[in-house]
Amino acid sequence: MRISHLRQRLYDLGAKPCHEDRLLRGWSQVCSYDRKGSPAETFFPLALRNELPGIEAELDGLARLKSEHPDTLTLPLSQGERELNRHSDNEKVARLLIELHDGQMVESVLLPRGGLCVSTQVGCAVGCVFCMSGRDGLLRQLGSAEIVAQVVLARKRRAVSKVVFMGMGEPAHNLDNVLEAIELLGTQGNIGHKNLVLSTVGDLRVFERLMEGLTHKPSPQPSGGTTDHSTRPSENNGQVAGHPACGRGGNRERQSSIAAVKPALALSLHTTDEVLRTRLLPQAPRIPVEELVERAEIYARATGYPVQYQWTLIEGVNDSDAELARIVQLLKGKYAIMNFIPFNEVDGLTYRRPSGERIAAMAYALNGQGIYSRVRDSAGQEIEGACGQLRARAAKTRESASNIRGQILQRA
Ligand code: SF4
Repeated sequence: MRISHLRQRLYDLGAKPCHEDRLLRGWSQVCSYDRKGSPAETFFPLALRNELPGIEAELDGLARLKSEHPDTLTLPLSQGERELNRHSDNEKVARLLIELHDGQMVESVLLPRGGLCVSTQVGCAVGCVFCMSGRDGLLRQLGSAEIVAQVVLARKRRAVSKVVFMGMGEPAHNLDNVLEAIELLGTQGNIGHKNLVLSTVGDLRVFERLMEGLTHKPSPQPSGGTTDHSTRPSENNGQVAGHPACGRGGNRERQSSIAAVKPALALSLHTTDEVLRTRLLPQAPRIPVEELVERAEIYARATGYPVQYQWTLIEGVNDSDAELARIVQLLKGKYAIMNFIPFNEVDGLTYRRPSGERIAAMAYALNGQGIYSRVRDSAGQEIEGACGQLRARAAKTRESASNIRGQILQRA
């Protein structure tokens, strides 16, 4: 389901933009539709009120929790409990296996300090050799509402204040849906724009759309409303450009533009060596790393958010001193953060993560050269494997169960 289609459906039920926004805000923030002096039961038009239970059931069915690893937060939290849990030190990393309405599965990862990593596709066409998600290629795209539904599901468990689009899938291959989800989360979803992190392996379409968003001039806002690109939108300034506060006018065909929201950018580099990069990321666009860094840098300087470079560290593959020297050449003086992600073991792959000492030494060396570097845990080593592994195991279990059922039926 796409958010634009949902908006159209609400419009067909007599909703004005203010009704759509209040409903989408309530859904994406897991909060009441009521406002002081304006309860939903008198605010929403009658046709929408009548359809609301059905719409809510459909939204709930977009993403359901199949399992959580480790199984620490098994009960949905009340709003009060979520508030108490906000930024608590107890926030542990947990991987969620999520079932979509058609039975397909994706993964989200709850990260410390209110972070959430979401999937944008079922499977992935890039086929990185160290990643389980790309093993079977792309199975299907996620609709923008399915991407936001992962945030909603996570928010029923704990507070979410940052969303990174780095789960299963390459966002560039599903850009309209990803940008639509970003727009909703950055306007109605109460996520600060710099806390929406769009990740890519380096696809020109991403750079082009992001730069378009920077040069796009929003239509005049309704009186009293402004769009602040750097902070969380408030109740009044969460309007999307060209979206009258409460009228049936305006353009129904909202573009999947991010004119109203400027996300931060993450670039999955993994190596500076073109030949090795082709081997590690077989279907990534063939763009020289210097050009990728240059394009990312322009966007970073324009938005004021540093580029987050992602580097999955694999022993003997991309952890050499030569790589370190080339990273320094490439990123020194750039508005950049290097995130080293130690490789997580994947069934059937012989790759290994470097030793803890080597990982620390690499981060230390870059920091010493003025390139801010940190080591990120990809939430895999201690919780049921790397990205895509939970889904792959669940799919395999389901396949074996269905084979056994088939054999039993054949025998009967
Ligand atoms: S690492 Fe990302 S881009 Fe590469 S195959 Fe996995 S999901 Fe796709």
